[in-house]
Amino acid sequence: MDCIFCKIVSGEIPCFKVYEDENALAFLDVAPCADGHTMVIPKKHAGAFVEMTPEEAGNLFEAVNKVSVRLMDKLENVTGLTIGANTYASAGQTVMHTHIHIFPRCEGDGGGTTHSIVNSAVSKDPEYLKKISELLTSENENV
Ligand code: 5GP
Ligand code: ZN
Repeated sequence: MDCIFCKIVSGEIPCFKVYEDENALAFLDVAPCADGHTMVIPKKHAGAFVEMTPEEAGNLFEAVNKVSVRLMDKLENVTGLTIGANTYASAGQTVMHTHIHIFPRCEGDGGGTTHSIVNSAVSKDPEYLKKISELLTSENENV
């Protein structure tokens, strides 16, 4: 498969490794937005986060947790993290092998919160929120 992250897993493309286990690999982003900006990926190709099984996603987040602790323990001046996955093109995903970004943060680094990424003008009406909640908790054959 012509996937750059699969090629990183196979060693065909080099990376600066941060962590590895049976299911996941973590390496530094080639164009970091913060010192230690790391991506955690499943070794088995999955185009996007929602294409993984719950078990695969759990394994990936076990690695995300370990890498997060490692970044906070070992990098100086890191006092927080922003963790996220752009999922599909409309959310900004450019490499179609799912990856969780971990951005080390510190006071005054000029970065925003997740709320600064997505902040559309949508209804805050409790009745409307209730409808969305009911839709999402109703029986769904896929979940
Ligand atoms: P996305 O926009 O899909 O969430 O993020 C893709 C990320 O992959 C970008 O931050 C980009 O810098 C990074 N990236 C793209 N190609 C490579 C590569 O060959 N090696 C590494 N280490 N990072 C890459
Ligand atoms: Zn891949």
